[in-house]
Amino acid sequence: MHSSPAELFANYVMPTYAPGLTLVRGAGVNVWDSAGKEYLDFTAGIAVCNTGHCHPAIRAALADQAGKLIHCSNLFYNELQPRLAQKISQLSLGGKVFFCNSGAEANECLIKLARKWGSATGRHEIITMKNSFHGRTLATMTATGQTKYQNGFAPLVPGFVYAEFNNLDSVRAAITPATVAVLCEAIQGEGGILPATPEFLTGLRELCTAKNLLLFFDEVQTGIGRTGQWFGYQHFGIRPDGISMAKALGSGFPIGAAAVTPELSNVFQPGNHASTFGGTPLASAVALATLETIEKENLLANANQMGARLMDGLRRLATTNPLITAVRGKGLMIGLELNAPAKPYEAKARENGLLCIATGEHVLRFVPPLVVNADQIDRALAILTQSLTP
Ligand SMILES: *Cc1c(COP(=O)(O)O)cnc(C)c1O
Repeated sequence: MHSSPAELFANYVMPTYAPGLTLVRGAGVNVWDSAGKEYLDFTAGIAVCNTGHCHPAIRAALADQAGKLIHCSNLFYNELQPRLAQKISQLSLGGKVFFCNSGAEANECLIKLARKWGSATGRHEIITMKNSFHGRTLATMTATGQTKYQNGFAPLVPGFVYAEFNNLDSVRAAITPATVAVLCEAIQGEGGILPATPEFLTGLRELCTAKNLLLFFDEVQTGIGRTGQWFGYQHFGIRPDGISMAKALGSGFPIGAAAVTPELSNVFQPGNHASTFGGTPLASAVALATLETIEKENLLANANQMGARLMDGLRRLATTNPLITAVRGKGLMIGLELNAPAKPYEAKARENGLLCIATGEHVLRFVPPLVVNADQIDRALAILTQSLTP
């Protein structure tokens, strides 16, 4: 008799997660559990599977490259990594790119780059926002402005200062002679789908320019088309100095990257930073296929259209459903705030065939694949109407 995944997990996997379901298959916006039940997947592996589950172009890229060269280290060029860097650069800040394997590592790269850049003038302090999320390594956990992620892990990494999100005066007050950079999300994802205001972000840009500070955006969740632009900052008509990305970049294959402006492109010199797996041929192939698929299938436009449809439907539901206190988001990164804990409603929606994510205490988060269609949005709305009852 084989042990179930849940039994093996309980005995052998460190209990940092508490999964409730075993998934065995995915196709597009659908996933199936081990009992054969079908779900609409509005979690997309936490804003990762933007091209949908097991997209044919993604499978082909993985299979083709797996037969050619999987890994060769950064001691050698591979044919795909520089092409991917060019593509990311053209879609974002026009400068150079560093490759790593996760969102936390991409933020670490920006943090180290800011310190290296600031070392010439003796500056190292980085201002981040309260209620933010930047990752789980020691430095990115410290950058994360939420004590619940930090408790028990003291001493934290020195050099981080917190300001109020959407409060420019608070950022201004946090600046000291040691400040070198500001790190911010365009929409706070883990914090509960809280969009930055245009005034805050344009004000941040002006403030950082005036004070000679670097402005970085954590685009790990908002990037790769999630909000209906390639990157969240692009809604605001401003240019940051650097961005981090990961989650959706490889359609589920691990890859992260930090991209900067031409002015910052040569701050790192050989030996300053590295990653064994950064930008392997396999990771680069699947990331290129991801970006090309998003382009070819017009998924930015689809994210905007389907996001508007979901948002409209949720707003309509809010007019009659007393549980709902707010609907927020951009593109297909949408949060529904409830006046009750969200976790039980996540479970109810799951029972009814819709996967979504409770985030913060009171928010249900919807981040479906960008390939989602109108019929699937409408079915999700019907399931929510049925599930959001006391
Ligand atoms: C998920 C996330 C991270 C961390 O990414 P990992 O790949 O888990 O290290 C960082 N920042 C934001 C905004 C995220 O959503």
